Amino acid sequence: MGRKLLLDKAHIEGIRYYDTYRSNGGYAAAEKALKSMGPEGVLEEVKKSGLRGRGGAGFPTGLKWSFIAKPEGVPRYLVCNADESEPGTFKDRYLMEFIPHLLIEGLLISSFALGANSAYIYIRGEYAWIPDILEQAIAEAKNKGWLGKNIMGTGFDLEIYVQRGAGAYICGEETALIESLEGKRGNPRIKPPFPAVKGLWMCPTVVNNVETLAAVVPIINIGGDEYIKYGTGKSTGTKLISACGNINKPGVYEIEMNISVEEFIYSDEYCGGIKNGKRLKACIPGGSSVPVLPANLLLKTAKGEARMMTYESLADGGFATGSMLGSGGFIVMDEDQCIVRNTLTFARFYHHESCGQCSPCREGTGWMKKVLQNIENGKGKMSDIDLLWDIQRKIEGNTICPLGDAAAWPVAAAIRHFRDEFEWHITHSDEALTRNFGLAHY
Ligand code: NAD
Ligand code: SF4
Repeated sequence: MGRKLLLDKAHIEGIRYYDTYRSNGGYAAAEKALKSMGPEGVLEEVKKSGLRGRGGAGFPTGLKWSFIAKPEGVPRYLVCNADESEPGTFKDRYLMEFIPHLLIEGLLISSFALGANSAYIYIRGEYAWIPDILEQAIAEAKNKGWLGKNIMGTGFDLEIYVQRGAGAYICGEETALIESLEGKRGNPRIKPPFPAVKGLWMCPTVVNNVETLAAVVPIINIGGDEYIKYGTGKSTGTKLISACGNINKPGVYEIEMNISVEEFIYSDEYCGGIKNGKRLKACIPGGSSVPVLPANLLLKTAKGEARMMTYESLADGGFATGSMLGSGGFIVMDEDQCIVRNTLTFARFYHHESCGQCSPCREGTGWMKKVLQNIENGKGKMSDIDLLWDIQRKIEGNTICPLGDAAAWPVAAAIRHFRDEFEWHITHSDEALTRNFGLAHY
C-alpha cells in the first residue's frame, strides 16, 4: 500500500468538521509554524521539501514564494487557485469537499510564511456546493482562533475570503484569475511582471493551487527531508491523480511519486486495469492540455525504461516521445476510442474557452476545430492533416497565455502518434462515420 500524506485521514467520519480534524492532528502544523518556526523557517522547510506546484506547471513552490516582492508598506496577498477546470482534473474538488480544513490550515501556514494578511480562494463556479463547505470551515477556524486578529497570540492576522468564478476556464490562468478577482473580465495579463511582483491590486501576490497549499501541512508536520522520501528525483512527495476514462476504478488517488504508470493503471490499489478486458490504446496523463501518448510510449520511455508517474519520466523524450504529469488528470482510452473524435472534443473546448485577446489563439483554435470537424464528418482531405499541423505550430509560443499552447499540443501529439488514424478517417469516410473503431484498422 502506498503511503499517504493528504488523504490519509479522508476516510474518517466527520473529518470535514473542525473538532474531528483537530482531534486527528489537525492544526498541529499551524501551531508549530506560527509558534516555533517563524516565516523564514517555514520557507526553508518548503524549499527543502522540493514541493512543486500541483496545478500543472510544476514550478518549485519555495522558489515562487522567495520571489515575492516586499516593498515597504505594500500589502501582500495569497491566492488559492481552486478554479479547477482542466478536462480530466477533479482532485482539488475532492480535497475541498472532504478535508476543507487541510486547505485552510495550508493557507494559514503559507500566508504566515509570505507575510500576507488576506488570502482568497477563487473557486470555479461549477463547484456550486463547495463554497458553503469552505465558508463553514473558515467560520469554524475563526471561531477557534486560527483566523482573525492576533492568531494564537502570535501577533499574526489573517482573513480568508471565498470568491466564486462564473464558469470560464481561462480564469484558472493566474493573471486572468486576478483580473476576475478584481471584478474585471478574466483576460490574462502579459507576464512579466509576474504576480509575485505585481498581482492582485498590483500588489505582490502568490497564486498557488489547492493541492500545493494542502501539501504544506504535512511538509511542516514531517519536515522537508522526510517529505522528499515519498518521491524520487525532482518529483518529491505524493501527488493526487484524478483517474478517468476506460478503467475499472475511476477516482481520486494519492500516489507516492515513485510508482510506474503500468502499476497505476493495472494494480487493484489504483485504476484496476482496463474496463471490460479491453486493450489499452492511449492515455492523456496530465489533463487535456498535455500530449496524448500511445500505449507503447505510455508504459515505456523511448529508451525502453519503465515510464514512472513523475514529472521527469512522463516528460522523458520531450513531446516527440513523452508528455507531462501536468495537473494529474489521467484520461485512459481503450481500443474502441477514436483519437480524431477525442482531438475534436478538446479542440472544441479550447475554441470555446479562448478569451479572444490574441489572434493565433482566437482564430487558430476555431480553424483547428473546423478542420477536425470536417475530417470527423467524412469531408476531410489528405492535405487537411498538414494544414492542422501548420495551424497548431503557428499558435504554439505565440500567445499571451498558455491556453494557446494547451490547444496546440493535443493536436500535434494526435497527429504525431496517430497520423494513420487521421488518414484512415479521410480514406474511409463513410465507415468512420458509422462505426466505432480503435485499433481495428491497424
Ligand atoms: P507557468 O509555467 O507560466 O508559471 C508557473 C508559476 O511560476 C506561475 O505562478 C508563475 O507566476 C511563476 N513564475 C514563473 N517564472 C517566474 C518568475 N521568473 N518570477 C516569478 N514567478 C514566476 O505556468 P502557469 O500558467 O502557472 O500554469 C500552466 C499550467 O497550468 C499548464 O501546464 C496546465 O497543465 C495547467 N492547467 C491546470 C488547470 C487545472 O485545472 N488544474 C487548468 C488549466 C491549466
Ligand atoms: Fe486569450 Fe488564448 Fe491569448 Fe490566452 S492565448 S490570452 S486564452 S486569446
